[in-house]
Amino acid sequence: MPNLPVLSQPNHPSAAAVSDSLTETRKQEVIQRLKQVIEPTLKHDIVSLGMVRNLRVVDDYVYLRLYIGQHQHPLPAQIQAILSSLSWCKKTYIQLCTIPGVRTTLAISSGKGGVGKSTVAVNLAAALSQQGAKVGLLDADVYGPNVPHMLGLGQADVQVIDTPNGQRFLPLEAHGMKVMSVGLLAEPDHPLAWRGPVLHKIVTQFIQQVDWGDLDYLLIDLPPGTGDAQITIIQESPICGVILVTTPQQVAIADVRRSVHMFRQVGVPVLGMIENMSYLVDHSGAAVPIFGNGGGTQLSVELQAPLLGQIPIDARICTGGDAGQPLALTDPTSAIGQVLNQMAATLKATFCSKPSLS
Ligand code: ADP
Repeated sequence: MPNLPVLSQPNHPSAAAVSDSLTETRKQEVIQRLKQVIEPTLKHDIVSLGMVRNLRVVDDYVYLRLYIGQHQHPLPAQIQAILSSLSWCKKTYIQLCTIPGVRTTLAISSGKGGVGKSTVAVNLAAALSQQGAKVGLLDADVYGPNVPHMLGLGQADVQVIDTPNGQRFLPLEAHGMKVMSVGLLAEPDHPLAWRGPVLHKIVTQFIQQVDWGDLDYLLIDLPPGTGDAQITIIQESPICGVILVTTPQQVAIADVRRSVHMFRQVGVPVLGMIENMSYLVDHSGAAVPIFGNGGGTQLSVELQAPLLGQIPIDARICTGGDAGQPLALTDPTSAIGQVLNQMAATLKATFCSKPSLS
């Protein structure tokens, strides 16, 4: 008998293919239901906000990770209720990803180094703290961990304490804020030689291993750039959204455009942009746009991401950073102080910060 060629049978899909397509259909059903769950402060659905990750459907069971802040704890019950109405769904397993005690976690990012990301993170944290919020600042910028210096902490010793959840780093205190930095774990003047594959693991773990206590806001100063490591850190951490810092130059703007697209592609909400070094106030009081004009506004319209503020160039923010005294605290009525206070007020209005942690 001649050997017959093995033919595929397009009209009779294999059992595996049928099962794959059923799983995919169910997954889409789950996504549609989850899109009906609205996060009350950001007023968007939890899928668009990137709060649901690692969604899997296995037979009649749904598994997902939910990234939430302390104030969003009613959401799991809503998810359970909405998915239980699917006829085939026997049970939903939700893995909660949260930082104990932290209400809102915000990441500060930039397309590249030197645009003032850490300066903005420190001063924005200071402005939030001055407005009465309980604030923590985590310096995760492994390439230039300058936050402790900018807050006058130097190379302080980090204590490790025992907690019911295991050993944790005790944050330092500066100007009423809690501070922790990857730089405090390294020897002074020795760069942290962490690269891509280990970088995100170490930083993600580090974020979870600090005993923050009760915080309204945790700001995370990320390493610059939007490579795999940075995106993974944000994706794997309970971050409510990312704020991008840029300067008005065309090259920096191009970087931010790329960053915004990249963060959105992987489901991380971009809360807005901050344009730093926007202008210099000359001796007559006129604003001189040294690095170009209107880039941030144009980008904000194009990308539909709010421009949270434009920070002028001021040598005092530099000297304040060197002296460990954030300008937002030492001179809150300066032009920079006012812009930062306005930004802090916008964030507080968005996240309805109430010192109500128990
Ligand atoms: P990044 O974190 O993006 O690498 P830094 O915050 O370390 O940047 O800032 C780089 C330098 O620019 C620092 O010396 C800082 O003091 C200075 N700088 C940042 N913003 C301003 C500003 N608005 N006016 C003047 N100097 C600034």
